[in-house]
Amino acid sequence: MMLNVQTWLKVAKHPNLTLNRNPPVAKNSHKMHRLSQNQLKAMHRFGSDLTMALGLRARGVHLEALGMSVGKGAVIVRDFRSNINNDKQTPVLLVTAEHATNELPTGYSFKEQELSTGEFLAESHWAYDPGSLHAASEIAAAAQGVLVAAAYSRLYIDPNRPLPSDTLVRQHCGSDIVAMNACIEPTEVAARVDAVWSPFHLCLGAVKAALGPTAVLSIHSFNPTYPDMTLGSRDFEVGVLNTFDSNLAINICSALNLAGCPSKINKPYSGKEGIMFSAEGAAGPRIGSKSGYGSPGIAPSGRIPAIMLEFRNDVCKDPAWRKRAVTAVWAAFESSPLY
Ligand SMILES: [Zn+2]
Repeated sequence: MMLNVQTWLKVAKHPNLTLNRNPPVAKNSHKMHRLSQNQLKAMHRFGSDLTMALGLRARGVHLEALGMSVGKGAVIVRDFRSNINNDKQTPVLLVTAEHATNELPTGYSFKEQELSTGEFLAESHWAYDPGSLHAASEIAAAAQGVLVAAAYSRLYIDPNRPLPSDTLVRQHCGSDIVAMNACIEPTEVAARVDAVWSPFHLCLGAVKAALGPTAVLSIHSFNPTYPDMTLGSRDFEVGVLNTFDSNLAINICSALNLAGCPSKINKPYSGKEGIMFSAEGAAGPRIGSKSGYGSPGIAPSGRIPAIMLEFRNDVCKDPAWRKRAVTAVWAAFESSPLY
């Protein structure tokens, strides 16, 4: 599908992210697998003015018009819609990537920390989901949808965790302690929530309110191995996770298998066990809606479908593999009743 318009939003730094608690440190020198500066420049970041956003429900709205007062620098938004300037009511797919980058705000560093595996923490799957930002961008582009991604490492704070989670700010990666997070004070956790976690979710809400997306698709990647292999063998390439939308998940899974990307439903984790925190939050009805939140195990009325894809990170780094997978995923969405 051809892209007619790509709207890049302005880069702006969130004032809360220039923390001077610690002197600024040199950026991690292991940049081979990190995003290049050009890539980062291309991933424009913004925060949304919710007051404005909630008043702009027309699909024709330009995301730039949402304003820039919340979460600047904390969120990456890419707008691939091609029909911004006409009245055509094309369904919009909202693609999210909660673990998109291994960047840290100014003043924070992985300090070249090595894991007991010999791998640098900053390059490991603990710091981010390798390949997920590329995959998410490519799916959003194919769908002419909108991508919302967290701009900083999950080890700074994890937007795919509820606030009470003990891995909101992870202190251990397997048997290794995360030096940056050791003995973290509650006030520091609160600062990180304010700087990144809240703006990310507020941005999802603002985009949802403004564009009325037809579905949420959350993109992640998983490691071929994991310390706790009792979770099951990881000899497949894509996990198609869902909490309530099993028919859509089955169709996506079938399309991926047909495309030569071995896939399984709700593996290596199940979407029915709360792992889709961010996607289900964005998919759910807004607080105050008459439909309420439903009962455990029953989809609340008023929500939109939500799927989470876990791509195995070794294959997800391969552009040719991603092209096959992205084509299959989008074909499954496009042939669904949502489109
Ligand atoms: Zn992830």
